[in-house]
Amino acid sequence: MNSRKNDYYVFINEPLPYPYDAMEPYIDAKTMQLHHDRHLQTYIDNLNSALRDHPELQKASLEQLIRFADRLPKPLGIQIRNNAGGVYNHRFFFAGLRSPGPEPSGGLLLQTLDETFGGLERFKTQFKAAAMSVFGSGYAWLAADKTGRLKILATANQDTPITLGLFPILTTDVWEHAYYLKHYNKRGDYIDDWFQVIDWNRAERNYVSPAQ
Ligand code: MN
Repeated sequence: MNSRKNDYYVFINEPLPYPYDAMEPYIDAKTMQLHHDRHLQTYIDNLNSALRDHPELQKASLEQLIRFADRLPKPLGIQIRNNAGGVYNHRFFFAGLRSPGPEPSGGLLLQTLDETFGGLERFKTQFKAAAMSVFGSGYAWLAADKTGRLKILATANQDTPITLGLFPILTTDVWEHAYYLKHYNKRGDYIDDWFQVIDWNRAERNYVSPAQ
């Protein structure tokens, strides 16, 4: 997923690179299946639909669409902002997961997390607070600026950090559809479980050699 060939219209929903139950017991298989096959699929379908009658936009990459959405006429710009953002954010979220495994033991990201937040546990506390602060639907992110300085932030709806000039490293989806089947209304429990399935190798790559 996130392959360059699928960064342009016509967008397709590539299969997850792991089984639906890969994140058990922390994220349940049914949630993973519905989240990918229905929620992400809908964003992809709606993005393709919005672009169908706009050949001038069909040569723009997913990221270019996100960057320019707010300069397009309404309602097209809003459709692009929400749906291109939804595709980007979900791909980034799914790509950042792996089966439960050990916490990071080294690397530039961990070193910088230590320097910035005073250790991995303190980072988690601040990240969870940001995730809990999202009113309604959105995401919490760890992102870097162009100098490599780390920042935790929350975004609403399907907004992304890339329009803020930031490079995403980690994200958790805190829309209710991401956790309601298993965690009901307990977003904090979901965040604690999400920490168990972070792909820290992917996060390190996102930090050291961002794709953007
Ligand atoms: Mn979602």
